[in-house]
Amino acid sequence: MNILLLGGGGREHALAWKLAQSPALATLYAAPGNPGIAQHATLVDLDATDHRAVVDFCLRHSIGLVVIGPEAPLVDGLADNLRVKGYPVFGPGKKAAQLEGSKGFTKDLCKRANIPTAAYERVASKDGAIAALDDFALPVVIKADGLAAGKGVIIAETREQAVEAIEDMFSGAFGSAGAEVVLEEFMIGEEASFFALTDGSAILPFGSAQDHKRVGDGDTGPNTGGMGAYSPARVLTPELEAEVIEKIVRPTVDTLAAEGTPYSGVLYAGLMLTDEGPKLIEYNARFGDPECQVLMMRFDGDLVELLLAVAEGRLAGQGPVRLAERAALTVVMAANGYPGVPDKGGAITGIDAAEAAGARVFHAGTADKDGAIVANGGRVLNVTATGDTVKAAQQAAYKAVDAIGFPTGFCRRDIGWREVAREEE
Ligand code: ATP
Repeated sequence: MNILLLGGGGREHALAWKLAQSPALATLYAAPGNPGIAQHATLVDLDATDHRAVVDFCLRHSIGLVVIGPEAPLVDGLADNLRVKGYPVFGPGKKAAQLEGSKGFTKDLCKRANIPTAAYERVASKDGAIAALDDFALPVVIKADGLAAGKGVIIAETREQAVEAIEDMFSGAFGSAGAEVVLEEFMIGEEASFFALTDGSAILPFGSAQDHKRVGDGDTGPNTGGMGAYSPARVLTPELEAEVIEKIVRPTVDTLAAEGTPYSGVLYAGLMLTDEGPKLIEYNARFGDPECQVLMMRFDGDLVELLLAVAEGRLAGQGPVRLAERAALTVVMAANGYPGVPDKGGAITGIDAAEAAGARVFHAGTADKDGAIVANGGRVLNVTATGDTVKAAQQAAYKAVDAIGFPTGFCRRDIGWREVAREEE
């Protein structure tokens, strides 16, 4: 079968690597891809915002499955436009992708389905939002409703900060994402991510992970797309996982199906493990990046068969997702300047040596310049390793990081610290 994979980050490199291992695959095409993905796929020049061009490509290349990596094409309705033409797609349609595309949509769904989450109010005007602050204790969480690449969430410690954040969001700085804001009660606890495949009816757990959002060691500095991650997140015990499925994931899937907009794809639940039990922070409509990289390192099965079963509504016939017991950990190597404007063009050496040291190096923002790999984005490489413990995986990953020459880049040196400390208790 021919498959089209959309996206060009470390997440898609990890997916391409696993898809390419399936005996069911004939040709893997990827757009835009990156030099790492090119090891497994034919890169094609295809603009995912041009839905007609994507449909046309599928017809010309007899595509049997489209795998959509990032959120933007999902929220934009690409999956619907492919499905009406008969192409199986891994990823939700526009309405169900609102779980990620609109925080207000998700909060309203939680209310309808009685899903545990922070108390909230949706407000569509600056004055209304400032007035609504009276209903919340401090700190208060202020979120732009739409997609804001992780930058649309402010935790305000004082009323002044809250007013400033609200004024900012209604100033137009977030475009249409800021036309409405959601005010939320601040929840206390440890965060963990849980992944589940669903075809709108059956649900198959796909493991857990924890990531590191801040740019600096000790979880300091500005937020990023993620500087590293590990899986499994052992704080999410089997008992808690069962509770998350029963109280959060199952009601979400059933409510969307009952309302005529079934969700098909991977549901990524961002959770806060509070004293009152797990509560939903947010949903994402795709695999996380870099969480996907650690999940794929642990996944032990035929990814083509599994994603196709989701796309074709046959998930109930699949056995449980097989994930290795081993821990996996990924360290993001970023270009200097990230998460601001990154230095591009910096030389990278030693990827082969890093892989010889036992790690797998997924490419994110890289480019091929006359046969040499150079930096071409903010997050550049994901150096990923496994081990019997998170500590062992961490040591293996950093050993590989140290084999890489990237003078214009940096990475955190403490990915996995929380879990390593727990292991050492
Ligand atoms: P992401 O980058 O994960 O896609 P996002 O912009 O979609 O982020 P959220 O995940 O909703 O936004 O929030 C970002 C972070 O803010 C969370 O990971 C969490 O640390 C914090 N946060 C969000 N909501 C709350 C809350 N109600 N209570 C406490 N912390 C919160």
